[in-house]
Amino acid sequence: MAAGLYLHIPFCRSRCDYCSFVSCCDTKLAEEYYQKVKEQAEKISYGGEFDTVYFGGGTPSAVPKLLEKLYGLCCRTFSIRKNSEITVECNPDSVDDELISVLKKINCNRVSLGLQSTDDAILASVGRRHNFEQFAVAVQKIREVTTNISADIMLGLPMQTVESAVESVNLALDFGIKHISVYALKVEDGTPLKSRGYTVDEDMQADMYDAVYEAVQKRGFERYEVSNFSLPGYESKHNLKYWNLEDYVGLGAAAHSYYGSKRYEGVGLKEFLAGQETIAEDVSEEFDEELIMLSLRCSRGLELDRLKNKNKFLMEKKSKIDELKSKGLIEVKDGFLRLTKDAFYLMNSVIVELI
Ligand code: SF4
Repeated sequence: MAAGLYLHIPFCRSRCDYCSFVSCCDTKLAEEYYQKVKEQAEKISYGGEFDTVYFGGGTPSAVPKLLEKLYGLCCRTFSIRKNSEITVECNPDSVDDELISVLKKINCNRVSLGLQSTDDAILASVGRRHNFEQFAVAVQKIREVTTNISADIMLGLPMQTVESAVESVNLALDFGIKHISVYALKVEDGTPLKSRGYTVDEDMQADMYDAVYEAVQKRGFERYEVSNFSLPGYESKHNLKYWNLEDYVGLGAAAHSYYGSKRYEGVGLKEFLAGQETIAEDVSEEFDEELIMLSLRCSRGLELDRLKNKNKFLMEKKSKIDELKSKGLIEVKDGFLRLTKDAFYLMNSVIVELI
């Protein structure tokens, strides 16, 4: 089975008011960053093939030259299969002719656009640089490269209502978007949003999720993971590797890896530039627990044969499984244990019962 390759590009044109990701606006660091990623890539011992490459951030589209160089590095250093899924995260305000030319050169065949909302006032209220018009122009330009476009939508933003969240999704889908990722806003410590005293109405956030799910279903989308919806065949192959606990290698600041039964924790940008290495931890003992936790997030569910201790799990959890089945929260069919549609709302508590 081929692995996934993730590259973190920690540069943005400005910082959004809710952001706690590892990113900075000092693009002068790009060359130094590239050199460190190169050193890291050359030390990685992973010898297998890759069939997905994902450039995340940060804002990869804000630094097209770095994006192109990193892709070249990947091709020289790793074995990347022909026709691999190559995803680039883009923000609407940085989709210009230079970026489009780079996306073509690096064989990008999937773009994930940070839309968040189609309401310009909401976008401005959290410091997003773009407006809806820029999203519309960006989609038109990206279509020169690929029609496999995903949009991120955030739930719980200031001034956002259930209706405006649904409108954002419907407008995005009117542009032929094939995949929607829906994120619940968390107000993290140290962010401008937190210091302004903003709090999320979690009940309304849950109502937004329900309404958005209903809206995308009407347009033929399926929920394949708790926060991700797509038209059939447009699921993110790369992200499915995380949820299926398959191998992936992460490069750059804050990038995690999982291969050879070891998990590697990424380090912050400052530490990464200072040469601090990721720390490996043997997680072979935790495989079954992690597989249960991650795969139950997906509609496909848990493939029982992948459990290292399948018989032990089925014996020890027999009464719990029977109870959850009788409550209509899980089903066991064709070798898979999965949550029923209604149980996705209780996902965390069902998972706790099974680990
Ligand atoms: S564009 Fe993304 S990574 Fe950059 S500041 Fe905004 S939320 Fe953070």
